[in-house]
Amino acid sequence: MTKVEMIYPQGYCAGVKNAISIAKESKNKYPNKKIFILGNLVHNQIVINALEKIGISTISGDFEDALNNLPKDSVIIFPAHGHDEKYDQIAESKGLIILDAVCFKVKQNASIIKDYIAKGHQVIYIGIKNHPETTACLSIDENVRLYDIKKDFDFSQISDDSPLVINQTTLNFLELTDIHDEIKKHFKNAIIQNEICNSTRKRQEAIVNLEDDVDLIVIVGDKASSNTNRLLEIAKSAHPNAESYLVSNVGELDKNSIINKKHIAISSGASTPAETINMIYEEIVNAFAK
Ligand code: SF4
Repeated sequence: MTKVEMIYPQGYCAGVKNAISIAKESKNKYPNKKIFILGNLVHNQIVINALEKIGISTISGDFEDALNNLPKDSVIIFPAHGHDEKYDQIAESKGLIILDAVCFKVKQNASIIKDYIAKGHQVIYIGIKNHPETTACLSIDENVRLYDIKKDFDFSQISDDSPLVINQTTLNFLELTDIHDEIKKHFKNAIIQNEICNSTRKRQEAIVNLEDDVDLIVIVGDKASSNTNRLLEIAKSAHPNAESYLVSNVGELDKNSIINKKHIAISSGASTPAETINMIYEEIVNAFAK
């Protein structure tokens, strides 16, 4: 008998729910205006396509250029994971109607960074280069320096004995601990704040805590989603004997991977629609019912 289990939490986190609700409500609030989002509202193409269908367009390419060329009384929505602060001023100066869908947790981190900068500290920001949240935090001040998780960090650029160390909310919690240990070797008085959000951390811990007999882990989410990719990394490192892979929709499910498995676990990124997760669960369960 094969065990097929959903690993909780599943589906939208609070920040994604809030962003989608702001976007959908904007259609009722501003029925006669053009509505745009400055980049992906959340990192899931199914969600972005659904918003396009109701007339909410996602801007890609050069944001500054796009903002400068939008019709004067358009609505601009700032996405869940933040944006370069200079876009606030441009949007205001152009007379755009601004809707702020930035997640409370992302805002909280920006505010911690501002507090420490105001106190004269340097900041080591651990994140992924060009992710919107990283771009947003780096735009706060030149004393916020990126520790790119994919590269070595040049510690000589930090002259503060006790820099603030803070991070993107959707990093791998196991990898972050190693990075903190490395930073502490250089700055024993570093002020370390682990700011992985609850939604991300709980999903990662649930994968680590899976029973050892798990032999297939399916992660449901978009390949552009940081938290989804981190779930896959953790599944592979915590359960090296299991097969683990990521699917963004039911069509990507590898039917051959299900055959002969005894314990299948399904997890999902924080911006994955419940319908997508349920379709994949049903598809797997039905494969054993035949
Ligand atoms: S994953 Fe975390 S930081 Fe990102 S929107 Fe959700 S709650 Fe906010």
